[in-house]
Amino acid sequence: MPDQVVTRFAPSPTGFLHIGGARTALFNWLYARGRGGKFLLRIEDTDRERSTPEATAAILQGMGWLGLDHDGEVVSQFEGAARHAEVANHLLAEGKAYKCFSTQEEIAAFRDAARAEGKSTLFRSPWRDADAASHPDAPFVIRIKAPQDGATVIRDQVQGDVTIRNDQLDDMILLRSDGTPVYMLAVVIDDHDMGVTHVIRGDDHLNNAARQMMIYEAMGWDVPVWAHIPLIHGPDGKKLSKRHGALGAQEYQAMGYPAAGMRNYLARLGWSHGDDEFFTDAQAREWFDLDGIGKSPARFDTKKLENLCGQHIAIADDAALRQEIQGYLAAANQPALTETQSGDLERAMYCLKDRARTFPELLEKAHFALTSRPIEQDAKAAKALASVSNGILNELTPQLQNVSWTRDDLEASLNGFAEARETKFGKLAGPLRAALAGRAVTPSVFDMMLVLGKDESLARLQDAAEKAQSS
Ligand code: GLU
Repeated sequence: MPDQVVTRFAPSPTGFLHIGGARTALFNWLYARGRGGKFLLRIEDTDRERSTPEATAAILQGMGWLGLDHDGEVVSQFEGAARHAEVANHLLAEGKAYKCFSTQEEIAAFRDAARAEGKSTLFRSPWRDADAASHPDAPFVIRIKAPQDGATVIRDQVQGDVTIRNDQLDDMILLRSDGTPVYMLAVVIDDHDMGVTHVIRGDDHLNNAARQMMIYEAMGWDVPVWAHIPLIHGPDGKKLSKRHGALGAQEYQAMGYPAAGMRNYLARLGWSHGDDEFFTDAQAREWFDLDGIGKSPARFDTKKLENLCGQHIAIADDAALRQEIQGYLAAANQPALTETQSGDLERAMYCLKDRARTFPELLEKAHFALTSRPIEQDAKAAKALASVSNGILNELTPQLQNVSWTRDDLEASLNGFAEARETKFGKLAGPLRAALAGRAVTPSVFDMMLVLGKDESLARLQDAAEKAQSS
């Protein structure tokens, strides 16, 4: 086995980056990054009708969001067509492949007859052992000479040894009659030429592996390590689909999940390391191994995702969060924060990031820091304010003028005020939240006061006091 691990992600650019694809990319990335290896990206764009540049852009965007950086240039499979044809012709010259002149009609007739006789409908070409002298001057495809007896064993790191009887493999086409390579050939050649040592991909490709092995063997190339991972299911145990919710990685960005939380969650989706649920990127890189990938499909669980996201927000660097939130707003088609707002957000971050599971939740808590006077009260806040028309705020505001703006002094002062009025601080909190933030659910009153500073806090209290009096 070569020393350096080389993995790859090989999406077909026919749509957005599917959450399952994102997980496949992540597994490959973790495996390579944890071993000082390389992680390559190949866009499988041989299907010209279905491949679009927009889809490629969406895949790159999704991977960029998740921080799944790849090594080297992005490889276009389509651009390798000449190389793929060269290999097919090489196998032809070696007698390991042959020209097949059977027409569609002849193949259909073969299948009908086989069906009628109750035999296998796998096409057996009459041209496999035909002498070149008998070749007509007609269009042909190049087919591989598949082994006809024995068995092919896929030594899969997830599924175990999977044995396919060779009489179930047909002489698959390598090159179409128009000279274009088939996808299955292109994958093998590209993986070989790119030096891929480990193929980690969805188990919907397990059957392909048996067919791809024929090509490796015919070329005398080393077969990569296979790891076919079970697909992701919805909470109901059925294959993940639109009806379970969002499928695109970008949709999760637009919903405001932090990339680190998403990576943690996706890594846990089908892979485990003991009982660890929450872990950092560094831990994931260190721990990730093919042994920990489960054999049965993992179920997508939004609650778990949110829970992990909350934990990642809580430990994230404030400046990094500030930047990621701008990215979220752009993805969600919402206006960006101004430089001032985003600076305010960063200063407030310490009292926001605890217990916010998503960026919308965090921004809701940040409302007090992002909004400016006059503060508009939402319905709940307005109700809290209405109950202070007795002048609490009017009395309190002047008292706060002389307080030094530290947490200790503010606490002492507000508690003292509550005591003097024979009430509890809790009773003051509602009106204060309403006055400072216009919301009923906010960070603590002290945190808000400290973040806003004395002048702004007092001005907001004053505004609310006047409002309460005039209503
Ligand atoms: N292009 C294939 C897909 O998007 C992946 C092929 C592979 O990983 O070998 O499903």
